[in-house]
Amino acid sequence: MQARPLMPVEEALERLLALAEAAPIRDTEDVALADAEGRVLARDLVASLDLPPWPNSAMDGYALRLADWQGEPLAVSQRIFAGHAPAPLQPGTCARIFTGAPLPEGADCVEMQENVEVLEDGRVRLLEPLQVGQNVRPQGQETRVGEQVMATGTRLGPIELGLAATLGHARLEVVRRVRVAVLSTGDELVEPGLPLGPGQIYNSNRRLLASWLQRLGCEVVDVGILADDLQRTGECLAGLGDVDLILSTGGVSVGEADYLGMALREAGELALWKLAIKPGKPLTFGHFRGVPVIGLPGNPASTLVTFGLLTRPYLLRRQGVTQVAPLRFDMPAGFDWPRSGTRREYLRARIEQGQVRIYKNQSSGVLRSAAWAEGLVEVREGTTPREGDSVSFIPFSELLG
Ligand code: AMP
Ligand code: MG
Repeated sequence: MQARPLMPVEEALERLLALAEAAPIRDTEDVALADAEGRVLARDLVASLDLPPWPNSAMDGYALRLADWQGEPLAVSQRIFAGHAPAPLQPGTCARIFTGAPLPEGADCVEMQENVEVLEDGRVRLLEPLQVGQNVRPQGQETRVGEQVMATGTRLGPIELGLAATLGHARLEVVRRVRVAVLSTGDELVEPGLPLGPGQIYNSNRRLLASWLQRLGCEVVDVGILADDLQRTGECLAGLGDVDLILSTGGVSVGEADYLGMALREAGELALWKLAIKPGKPLTFGHFRGVPVIGLPGNPASTLVTFGLLTRPYLLRRQGVTQVAPLRFDMPAGFDWPRSGTRREYLRARIEQGQVRIYKNQSSGVLRSAAWAEGLVEVREGTTPREGDSVSFIPFSELLG
């Protein structure tokens, strides 16, 4: 019997995004700008004022009306500092003006102070030719009243918050945080800080995912370690309370110890996906009493790749984020990859001297590869890139936030 073909990464992503769109977080809350970092805008932001609200000077210099000036030295009739309202410009004079100060009525250009000679009697001689509008920031050049400045579904980072502040907003309507229960399955797991017994390893995925989820603006319900036991798994899921996603690691590679899968089959629904992705072939998607469940493979590098490329966009889309794809760059490979595969490989890599170099050990259990790396290189199915060939590089900075 022929094995079922593996599910391409694009298809898995499309399915997850469709599932996310079918279960949007609808609750919103009104938060202060200081608390809005990393949140998702729940309402279009429309400008309630022109930016800038009035024409102002882009330079320290002298404002004048060009049509009134024949080249003669001009008397300085007022000084205008930023934050102060000017008087209308007296005809035949100029106004001393500083950067960001409103242009006086009647003026239409600014000569920068470096191009001016101040005469002994206080008048100024303008040394360089001028044009109307020169060194003037026109009213509304950035935004006009009524214009949509940010759309619903925009993630709010420092730049977006700065823009909201420019428009005078002290608070924003954002989507409520996604509540994610994180559970690590495996009898072998021990929390850091405790002694290791025979056959035991430390639980890395819990910390990896909990910290990452926090960066994504999620609320983490930290469940800790779940033993490989069907009854305990069922009890744990049933006791989770109000969460938007159950995210587990481990136990999805082979059926035998897949207690999460069994529990979902008993009290929910389950799909087991075999993905054309390496590391990270097996992935579970299901529901437990209506709550979506994503089961990631347990090897830490597999957890990292499947969370970063598939779960992160899912979580963002649940909050209505439109732009969920990480930026990627074409870079010359600094390595040879002679074995073509049937799965798309994501190699832990960093940029050195304009080339992408890969970590020497790409085993899915080696998280150190990712700590060494700056991102992931994508090697597509059936391809064998050689040194100098163009490969796609996704920086971790794109995935981690
Ligand atoms: P599993 O999918 O449960 O068979 O796990 C695959 C591999 O990942 C095994 O070597 C596990 O010991 C390891 N693993 C699973 N969960 C974790 C975890 N939370 N932290 C570190 N390693 C893990
Ligand atoms: Mg396990």
